[in-house]
Amino acid sequence: MAQTLQIERANQLKEKPDVSTVKFGTVFTDYMFTNRYTPEHGWSQPSIVPYQNLEISPSCQAIHYGQSVFEGLKAYKNGDEVLLFRPDENFKRMNQSLSRLSMPEINEENALNALYELLKVERDWVPGGPGQSLYVRPFVFADEPFLGVRPSETYQFSIILSPVASYYGGQADPTSIYVEDDFVRSVRGGVGSAKVSGNYAASLLAQKKANELGYEQVLWLDGVDQKYVEEVGSMNIFFVRDGELVTPKLNGSILPGITRKSIIELAKYKGYTVREEKIHIDDLANDLHSGRITEVFGAGTAVVISPVGKLNIHGVDHIVNDNQVGPISQELYENLTDIQYGRAEDPFGWVV
Ligand code: PMP
Repeated sequence: MAQTLQIERANQLKEKPDVSTVKFGTVFTDYMFTNRYTPEHGWSQPSIVPYQNLEISPSCQAIHYGQSVFEGLKAYKNGDEVLLFRPDENFKRMNQSLSRLSMPEINEENALNALYELLKVERDWVPGGPGQSLYVRPFVFADEPFLGVRPSETYQFSIILSPVASYYGGQADPTSIYVEDDFVRSVRGGVGSAKVSGNYAASLLAQKKANELGYEQVLWLDGVDQKYVEEVGSMNIFFVRDGELVTPKLNGSILPGITRKSIIELAKYKGYTVREEKIHIDDLANDLHSGRITEVFGAGTAVVISPVGKLNIHGVDHIVNDNQVGPISQELYENLTDIQYGRAEDPFGWVV
């Protein structure tokens, strides 16, 4: 049943900031989308309301038992147009995350339409400077006031928006990475392939350790054998090996990134061979040492492609491509961002 979206106008609008000075995730727009799920009526209260605090009980289930999932995507400005990159994929993945946590799925089409309406209301908030965008954060959490481990009966779904500057103005400088041998991000049969809040809480201690050791990000190994490469920070990882692109095969504990999927499709379209395979950390070390691997990069919505300049594997630093951005990383970054910003033709129909 199609629901009518209610719009409640704000009395006063905020002053828009100079986005080039805004820190990621600190400024939010005037409005948000909200919907509420009840067992009787399902998701039946879609509305766009002024950005505001949520009211929850101290016994709210999401706080205690962690039924909480989210998504992240960006809206880009191209002249007068506002563009989204594969937003259907985000709501599809959101439903996979919801299903994994025994939470009620959303209607993907309604969610997309709600996002379009929200962006119409907030179109002036989409920044137009180089590399700038409006970050879109949909999330769902259990809000039933009840202490007991079982699925909540009620839920809230919201979408909030936050203007963001480019991370570095263009292609990022190469990062340094610490391969984590003790902590793992996810395990076989666990929730690694879902975008659930707890995964990020579980990653913080290893991130802190890597920072203390002088590295920017963590490279996660698998949670069973602790030998196979999974992801880097909150990005998927790619290698250029013998001129071919190689990335870990999805295995249920890796998050299926939309940037990852797009890079695979784009690289194949451009004639590159792309391999999805199990990558043993010792093979990675050998291939870095021998020079077979010439580029390493992370891939995710936030930075699109983040080149890696240094990897610490079992205590040994390996420098990649002389700590410079490699040609294939640069090429894919330019091609993908040109499509996202509407500067280049989109042969895949990714941009809406
Ligand atoms: N892995 C993890 C753990 C992430 O949080 C993200 C960011 N969503 C990614 C990979 C990259 O996914 P995407 O390309 O969809 O942003």
